[in-house]
Amino acid sequence: MTVDTKKETYLNFVNGSWVESSSGEVKESVNPANRDDIIGSVQMSNVQEVDQAVASAKKAQSAWRKLSGNERGTILYKAADILERNLEDVAKCMTREMGKTFREAKGETARGVAILRYYAGEGLRKTGDVIPSTDRKALMFTNRVPLGVVGVITPWNFPVAIPIWKMAPALIYGNTVVIKPALETAITCAKIFECFEEAGFPDGVVNMVTGSGSVVGKAITDHPNINGITFTGSNGVGKTIGQGALARGAKYQLEMGGKNPVIVAADADLDLAVDATISGAFLSTGQKCTATSRVIIEDSVYDIFKEKLLAKTKNITVGDGLNEEVWMGPCASENQLQTVLSYIEKGRQEGASVLVGGTQLTGEKFEKGFFVEPTIFENVTNDMTIAQEEIFGPVIALMKVDHLEEALALANDVKFGLSASIFTSNIQKMLSFIEEMDAGLVRINSESAGVELQAPFGGMKQSSSHSREQGEAAKEFFTSTKTIFVK
Ligand code: NAP
Ligand code: MG
Repeated sequence: MTVDTKKETYLNFVNGSWVESSSGEVKESVNPANRDDIIGSVQMSNVQEVDQAVASAKKAQSAWRKLSGNERGTILYKAADILERNLEDVAKCMTREMGKTFREAKGETARGVAILRYYAGEGLRKTGDVIPSTDRKALMFTNRVPLGVVGVITPWNFPVAIPIWKMAPALIYGNTVVIKPALETAITCAKIFECFEEAGFPDGVVNMVTGSGSVVGKAITDHPNINGITFTGSNGVGKTIGQGALARGAKYQLEMGGKNPVIVAADADLDLAVDATISGAFLSTGQKCTATSRVIIEDSVYDIFKEKLLAKTKNITVGDGLNEEVWMGPCASENQLQTVLSYIEKGRQEGASVLVGGTQLTGEKFEKGFFVEPTIFENVTNDMTIAQEEIFGPVIALMKVDHLEEALALANDVKFGLSASIFTSNIQKMLSFIEEMDAGLVRINSESAGVELQAPFGGMKQSSSHSREQGEAAKEFFTSTKTIFVK
């Protein structure tokens, strides 16, 4: 393996080799549970490394697209097997890099394996339709063809699943790839590339350039030889990327934030609703785009639901995610911790009351990390910042309503529309929710955070650019349709 682990600097992967950046500049990757634990360093690459990666991807593209889907799929299956063999190592790296518990990191890595296999199989599935022509002597059909070179820009919160759910479909449909992973989790991405190297992708088919969003991310956005850009991250950055891609006529796909509600109806199974609220809100320290952040409860069950929720929240164990007894890890970085604390402060200033949590965890066990308590607010009105903005931390707002209509109006009254759930045993309430909730994922009696790799994933309103990822939906983005007429 060409990664120089002695220096612990993880290099770029370009044209089938590990290469140094001309910048000579590196950034250390820090464990958010223990700032003394340095996982290694990644390179702060320059625009010229993006140029090299794009040139190698462009060069590799025509041979890659000419392979059969089955031949491409064989390499993806191999990558899946290698990732599976390295699952614990990759998951451990993820836990150290961004704090997610080892249990969750293993689950995510297993998901990455499954996604690779799903798209490997896609190499044998149909790529078009026959459409009857009005000319009886003609054959008319469609075929899906690759975009060319695809740029992939990813966040730190799912360091294995998101890069793979973008790269795997890009690759199986015949595109070549240049990825810029989030700096925060670039070493975990390098681990994926170690698996890709061993799987034997032809040189130039998969490339990784690490560095900052403002340099490497921007260079990918603006590069004339990148034909499509797929992005997951914050709304602010997403808009910039969308505008950049649009300006030069590249295809783009943006998956962005959420402010996901859970409605608890008077007829809900309250214990189920409590457990789902806790896992939806606090697993991954609330750093999921589908995390629960608002809980809208019918008045008649408000007090009892609140009591049950508080009791269970108080039992949550926080600490280093490598410790098996810990249920919730730290915030992914010092920056993220400060953001979460500032939202909590804002909630207080604007008049909401903290029921539980609300502070940074201190003391010997926590002093080297970025730990915050699971936090629940009540007396939250819809105009408050904590009711409207994505916090991306373990913080929820409880809101009391008189009936379902009011709950639905509140649930929809945000700029986001990624995921939403309702807890109810009433079929009419379920149907109203399905009909009226403006969200890409609508979930009944199940937590807001939850995605299946074979189903379309993405948000409404400002949560996405309105395309969908995963499952068959990925084909829509990663290919163009050709209509072919033969006479
Ligand atoms: P972010 O700050 O938007 O960063 C995402 C990626 O964009 C990173 O790789 C970042 O590079 C890069 N970037 C930053 N500025 C850029 C620029 N000017 N041009 C091109 N690229 C640039 O998001 P994050 O903090 O990593 O992730 C959290 C966000 O992701 C949340 O809003 C969350 O809701 C969203 N998210 C959405 C989904 C979904 O599918 N809907 C899933 C997961 C997360 P750096 O390395 O410099 O940061
Ligand atoms: Mg880190």
